[in-house]
Amino acid sequence: MSPEGSRLLLQAGEALGLDLRPHLDRFARFYSLLVAANRRINLTAIRDERGVVLKHFADSLSCLRYPGFSDGMTVVDVGTGAGFPGLPLAIVRPGIRFELLDATQKKVRFVQEVIRELALPNAEARWGRAEELGRGVKRETYHAALSRAVASLPVVAELTLPLVRVGGFVLLQKGPEVEQELVQAQRALEELGGRLGGVIPFQLPISGETRRLVVLEKVAPTPPRYPRRAGLPARNPLS
Ligand code: SAH
Repeated sequence: MSPEGSRLLLQAGEALGLDLRPHLDRFARFYSLLVAANRRINLTAIRDERGVVLKHFADSLSCLRYPGFSDGMTVVDVGTGAGFPGLPLAIVRPGIRFELLDATQKKVRFVQEVIRELALPNAEARWGRAEELGRGVKRETYHAALSRAVASLPVVAELTLPLVRVGGFVLLQKGPEVEQELVQAQRALEELGGRLGGVIPFQLPISGETRRLVVLEKVAPTPPRYPRRAGLPARNPLS
């Protein structure tokens, strides 16, 4: 990462109330690995340094605007892709355990490589589908689930809520258009044992783009019929 990139990241961190100086080396290494791997496999359309710093690193870290994270938690990132938002969060919050799930094996291999190279003991990448994880032994075990840019709200609710224990939360990163989606997802949320906890509007550091953090609270156990089998939540979303 160039000195300009590092400066931008530090500045974005400050806007989020985070001192990223102790983590700069890891972010720089992550950036190099991402750029190198992107030449071989399509991991992200955002390739320029400023874009990666603001739209991937800073955007991922903005989950921490939600005050519900605490050390000792285990958090699952559903559909992590190249590691967003899970990896930047694992870098700055070593006391929280992050499990990064993706259905695409080449992406999981990349995330595993980053975890190894950055020596992140609190992160683990898993290859698999959220529907399967949600029907197995990990069902209702996580303190929280995160998901960015994976699917519409009813779909992502069915992929994440079954994984979270009662009392836990789901955090979804959305654009400004989410209000309409929320109205439509109301019934699906209830059906899954969830409830809308709130919508936290914020602006991305430096670029000023508007984003929303949608908080879902897990208030009741998810009925055993959810999640439906792999592919069904997306093909036939709950309504
Ligand atoms: N969260 C990342 C990647 C978004 S792309 C980011 O914001 O940059 C969506 C990712 O979700 C893809 O990598 C895809 O493989 C994964 N995905 C989609 N449906 C999934 C499912 N049911 N279970 C696990 N991963 C899924």
